[in-house]
Amino acid sequence: MIKKIISYVLVSLLGFALNFFSISVFGRTVDSSVFQVATINALAQGVYDGDYTYGKLMKHGDFGLGTFLGINGEMVAVDGHFYQIESDGTLKLVTANQITPFAEVTHFKPSLHHTLNNLANYQDLGKHISAGFPNKNIPYAIRIDGTFKALKLRSFRKQKEPYPLLAQASENQAIFHLQNVTGSLVGFWFPEYWEGIAVAGFHFHFITKDHTMGGHVLEVNLGNGELAMEPLYQVQVYLPNTRSFAKANLSAEELDESVKKAEGGT
Ligand SMILES: [Zn+2]
Repeated sequence: MIKKIISYVLVSLLGFALNFFSISVFGRTVDSSVFQVATINALAQGVYDGDYTYGKLMKHGDFGLGTFLGINGEMVAVDGHFYQIESDGTLKLVTANQITPFAEVTHFKPSLHHTLNNLANYQDLGKHISAGFPNKNIPYAIRIDGTFKALKLRSFRKQKEPYPLLAQASENQAIFHLQNVTGSLVGFWFPEYWEGIAVAGFHFHFITKDHTMGGHVLEVNLGNGELAMEPLYQVQVYLPNTRSFAKANLSAEELDESVKKAEGGT
């Protein structure tokens, strides 16, 4: 009888502990959010102008990525420093009056941390990162500080009006390679169901530790790094009040493919 009571108490305690654990992981309302300007399929359709300034964007986060009016280079933001990556890979500070046709930022507060070693390509890196997702149906902000054996980076060249589609613009993108550098991958992962609004899957921009070089990541060979991730439970999207955004055909069937081609990791 006493044994029975003890085992009942133990089972109850175990149940309580499991319940408490699941509540602490899944039952909590979390306010971590990402703020995005426009949609990736608008960028794919050649909507490279906009009405949203970096001055306003900077109030929504200290970490993120994006681009500029006329897709004049890539943007990377880390620890509150916003940089424009020019077509030779060098950085200059963003000014408040510059316009963004597409950007994503968050006030980065990572709660998940892992160490990564020797991941020779983007695909392996992606597998190891996503293995640490406690929830596959929410986006994540992701930062990896580490040493990189090799990186293949690109930056868009400034386009002139009438703007070409992003897939065409990416055909003459500037590509550069870095070897044995320390720095950070800065980016996001969105579940497949966000396709068209955000880049589905991984999207990373790189910045060297000394903040002198960077680019959109096309391929990566990681030596070792510290992975920090923030699960994102809110997505806020600003939709531009511009003629070009109003006229863009965002339902075109080939859009998802062209986004993958121009913005995908590999
Ligand atoms: Zn990019």
